[in-house]
This record gives sequence, C-alpha cells and structure tokens, in this order.
Amino acid sequence: MSIVTTVFRDATAVIGIDNPPVNTGNTAQRTALAEALSALHGMALDGVVIASGGRHFYAGSDLREFDSEDLAEPQLPDVIGLIEGLPFPVVAAVTGLALGGGFELALGCDARIADPTAGFGFPEVNYGMLPGAGGSVRVSRLVGVPRAVELVTSARQVMAEEALALGLVEAVVPADELLDRAVDLARRMDGKARLRDRPVPEVDAATVDAALAALPKRARPNVRHAADTVVRGATLEVGAALAEERASFHRFRLSEESRSLRYLFFAKQDAAKALRTGGRARPVTTVGVVGAGTMGASLAQALVQKRLTVTVVDSDEAALARLPEGIATATSPAALADADLVIEAVFEDMAVKQALLEALEPLLRPDAVIVSNTSYLDLEEMGQVLTAPQRFAGLHFFNPPGRNPLVELIRTASTDDDTAATLAKFIGLLGKVGIPAGVADGFVGNRVYSDYRTQAEYCVEEGASPAEVDAACVALGFAIGPFAVGDMSGLDIAWARRKRLAVDRHPDQRYVDVLDRLCERGRFGRKTGAGWYRYPEGAKRGEPDPEVDALIAEARAAKGLEPRTVTEQEIQDRVLGAMVAAAAVLVRDGVARQASHVDVALTEGFAFPKWLGGPVRALARRPRTQVLEILATVHRSDPITFAIAEGADRGELPEAVAAVLDDVAG
Ligand code: NAD
Repeated sequence: MSIVTTVFRDATAVIGIDNPPVNTGNTAQRTALAEALSALHGMALDGVVIASGGRHFYAGSDLREFDSEDLAEPQLPDVIGLIEGLPFPVVAAVTGLALGGGFELALGCDARIADPTAGFGFPEVNYGMLPGAGGSVRVSRLVGVPRAVELVTSARQVMAEEALALGLVEAVVPADELLDRAVDLARRMDGKARLRDRPVPEVDAATVDAALAALPKRARPNVRHAADTVVRGATLEVGAALAEERASFHRFRLSEESRSLRYLFFAKQDAAKALRTGGRARPVTTVGVVGAGTMGASLAQALVQKRLTVTVVDSDEAALARLPEGIATATSPAALADADLVIEAVFEDMAVKQALLEALEPLLRPDAVIVSNTSYLDLEEMGQVLTAPQRFAGLHFFNPPGRNPLVELIRTASTDDDTAATLAKFIGLLGKVGIPAGVADGFVGNRVYSDYRTQAEYCVEEGASPAEVDAACVALGFAIGPFAVGDMSGLDIAWARRKRLAVDRHPDQRYVDVLDRLCERGRFGRKTGAGWYRYPEGAKRGEPDPEVDALIAEARAAKGLEPRTVTEQEIQDRVLGAMVAAAAVLVRDGVARQASHVDVALTEGFAFPKWLGGPVRALARRPRTQVLEILATVHRSDPITFAIAEGADRGELPEAVAAVLDDVAG
C-alpha cells in the first residue's frame, strides 16, 4: 500500500496520508507527499485537502532520523514549501493527533478543519529541540506571540474545542463529515491564505514579557531558546524568521541534550517491549489493595483516578478511616473475592507478608493475579507460601505512586507468562513507565540509588558537608540532593534496612554510621523536625545543624580521618561512578535486563536529570581516561561495596563496566 494516495472529487484533490501506525513523519512519507503535491502543479483545481487515512493526522516525526548530521531530502520545510507554492487553497482535515511536524504541516496549509478527536501540539521541547519547519513562525502569525510562546514551550496538546477557541482551526465538525466539509471549505476559499503572508497580531511588550516570565524557573536552554525564537521571529521578515528557526532547530537537535532525551525515549520503548511476553493478558478492572499505609493509601487513590474499581483492606480500622471517602474499604481480605488483581502493601516484613498471602490466596478467584509491592524482600521466598506461585510477581511502585511514573515488574522463577503479560498491560493502563527487574535486594532503582547515597556519605566522611554534597548533586541536575531527600522520606526507613543488612555486612566493608547516630537521637528527618538538617518551625528548607557537624566530626575522628576539601566535581564524578558501578553489577547478574533500563529507572523514578540521559549514558559520554579515573576513585572509596570497579586504577576498564557503557554509547 502506498503511503500517500490522491483521489479527485471533481476539481478538488484529496491527498490521504497513510503511514501506520500513527502517520509518523519520515523520509518515505515526506517523499511520497512531495511527489503527490508536485503532481498537482499545473492542474486546473479548485482546491486540495490533506487528510489522514489512519487514526491520526500525523503524530510527530520519526525521532531516529534526527540523529544524523544531514537530514534526508526532501525535508519538511520543502514539503510545506510545495503546499504554499500551489496556486489553490490547501485545507488540512485533522483527525486525531497533529503533533510536531504534523502540526507544522497543518500550519503550512491555508486553513485547518478538525473532528472532535483532533489534538495539536509541539512536543519538540521535550526532546531538547524546538520546532524547525516554521511551526513557531506560523503559529505566532495565527494566534499572536504570547500564546505562541506558551504553545511552543509547554509541549502541551490542545484538543479540538480549545483549538477552535484559540483560532487554530476554522471549525470542528463530526468525524464522518470531516472530509466533505474540508472539500467544501477548500472550494469556498477565496484563493490562498498563507500564514506566512499574515502580519503578526500586535501586542504590547508587557504581555510578551509576561509570557516569557511564565516559563518555569528551571527551564532548559532549548525551551528558553524556543521562546526567544518565537519572539524574535515575529519581528523579522518571514523568510529570515523561518531560516533562523531552522538553524536553531538543527543546532538543538544535534545537541547532546537532545540526543540523550531521544535515547531515553527509545530506552522506554525498549523496556516496554521487554515487559511483553508471549502470554495472554487478562483484563484488570477490579483491584484489591492490602495495606492502607503510606503506599497502599496513595496507590489506591492513583488507581481510582484511572477509573479502576478499588477495595482497600487493612487490619487497622484507623488506617482505613484516613482514606478519602469514596474508596471501598474492608478489614478482611474476604472482600477481595472478585478482584482481578490484588496488590499487597502491608508492613515490610517477610513473616507478615507470607502470613497475609497464605490467608489471602484461598479467598481469591483462581485466575486473580497477586503482587507484592515490597521494596527489598526476596520475592522467591515470599511466593513459596502460595499453592499457585505462577500467578504471583513483584510490582514495585515508587512513592508517591500518583506522581512517580516508574514501576518495576519483577518475575520470580515461578511467575507464568500470562501473569507477566497481565501486569505489563496493567502498567500501560496506568500510564506508567515499566522496566523488568530480577529478584535482588532493592531490585534496580533502589539498589542504584542506594549506592549513590552511600557514595554521598563517603564524601561527607572525607570532608564535605551534607549541604555541599546536596548542592553538588543539584548542580549535576537533581532537583534536590540525597541528604535532603533522606530527610523528606524519613531516615528511619533506611535505618531499619541498615540494621537488617548488618548481619551480612563484610567486616571490612566501609560503613558510615552518622545516619545511625542521627536516628538514635530521634532525628528521622523532616517529620521529627531534624535529620541531616534541622527544620525550625515554618522553615521551608532544612538548615545546616552544628549538632550534625559535631556528629560527623566525631565519626571522622573515630576512623582517624583528616577532613579534606572534596570539590563539587569530585562529588559529582563519584556519585555518577557509584551508580554506574551498581548498574554494571545489576546487568552482569541479570537483575537489570540492560543498561538503558537503569537509565530509565533513575530518570523516571529518582529524578536523575533526563537531559543527561541517565547515569550510565552520562558517564559513557566522558572520555575513557576520565571514566577510568572516576572508577578508580570509586573503587578506592570502598573496595568491597564497589568491587566491580577493580582494575580501573591499573588502567583496565572492568569488563562488566565496559559492557554497560558500550551498551548505551552512540
Ligand atoms: P506502612 O507501615 O505505612 O503501612 C502498612 C499498612 O499495612 C498499615 O496500615 C498496616 O495496618 C497494614 N497491615 C499490616 N499488616 C497487615 C495485614 N496482615 N493485613 C492487612 N493490613 C495490614 O507501610 P508503607 O510504607 O506503606 O509500605 C508498604 C509496602 O510498600 C512495603 O512493602 C514497602 O516496602 C513498600 N513500599 C513503600 C514505599 C514507601 O515509600 N513508603 C515505596 C515503595 C514500596
């Protein structure tokens, strides 16, 4: 089947684009479009309609093509040039999404008409770029500079009714009338109505300034540049404005930041693919959540928002009473007899969880899937109490589950394909980003984060203050540093885990006991008014605390450590190196399927800066000599915890580390 077909309705040409699955713009599609448009030159027509043969008008461009230095011909501006060069009106008939290049193509037409499914947007800034085929130039001539700045920098989708209100489309009509009405519109138009020929609507400078001031404080350089491009483009002659926009587009699409964001896009797709199994996914509409604590309560609310039928079970009536009205509750798991899926989120205690699973199983439908939300416990061992362990797995959500997109799907040796397929589909239904993980302490995300935090503690022990380490991590791109995070989530959780792991700790393993000392003093973080920082009444942010400084000084003295200056660069390098060392262990041991999944976990679940692509990608971009130095430092910091980095100080890149770095390079 050809990608583009032209049919004639009397003297009106209807060009249909059909490039499954979402009419993505790519070289083949542009070539076919250019040929179809060129063929119309010289014909005696009264108009042209560009429509979609599929569900979407043109839902963005193939990101893979953006990696090459030179883009293949014809490029999108050439195609739009052909539309603008036709002597008769061209109408875009938009069904479904017109995103990125699709929106730009529609703006290159003389008019736009939509059905109620239509949505318009510029997602480019999410990929470190900005529109490059005249989108910013034409949209400002259509809706004015302030609105254009908002549309180009927010990447949001404008749905049909709003598009009509904003003037992006002439009309919204029923889907089955779209084509007829588009043909009619093209015939009624009085010649061309190119946006490039329109003057930019006048606005006062203050309104433009307000639009620029509305940009997020932490907006990335490409977002700021996109806003400036809109503003400047409105003051230039249209040809010059288009040329400037195109030049900026090329510069940004080839930036490391844009490449990293595209890398993450494909890494997420790959992780989603890795979750799919040959199994048959069972529908999930009714979900039981056992445990109405921190996790269970907010998870239940997140599920209700996805229109699932949810029942929460907790043995503690007070915990149930804290749930918002409208969520069904019960004190006995017998209330879950109808559930398609039961998520266990009770205390992090093997005996408690096993007792619950044993009691729960006979009460459920035989085809119900059971998952545990455990953060650290051994799922193989946990599932042993079940008579049908094949329908059991780990589904690890992150706090807060309503906002944190990451979910780890952990199959045990017994989990069957149907169970895995059901859970993979469920993750998709929730709109979450899933990665596969194997049974291991902390799975993927928490394990890597834990090594990051450990390395941060080493930096403190060697001479940095918690505030200096936090500041270095913020400078790296995290929203907040590890010590501020610890105070927010509560140090008692980490303390409990440390105590649990103490029995298995190697006697020579480096151990910073400052956190234990803090907890022994009841300093559990924000909730107790003090942790790594102190939080006086009404303080927005923690303040450095001399009491903590004294504890740190004591810890150093006890080990005979003379405090030294640990630079911001050293802190950043070491935390990065620690995360990559952890990634190498996880991939080597099969806990993470591949290195890019670790990057997905850290960027989606732990706020690692996306524009660096994740810790593995960030380190992979550094020269190998630096990588060796960083790993040597990490290894020296604790040859037991970071044993994987052995050899780096002799100039030998450990095989497992080289494997993960090579995996994400390119
Ligand atoms: P929590 O202590 O806040 O809540 C646990 C709840 O389970 C309590 O309300 C308790 O009454 C209830 N409960 C205990 N035993 C029960 C039983 N047998 N039957 C019914 N209800 C019972 O714990 P939490 O922080 O919500 O953690 C729950 C699980 O989620 C743990 O496995 C934890 O590792 C995991 N998890 C927690 C977080 C987090 O940030 N808190 C993040 C990811 C995963």
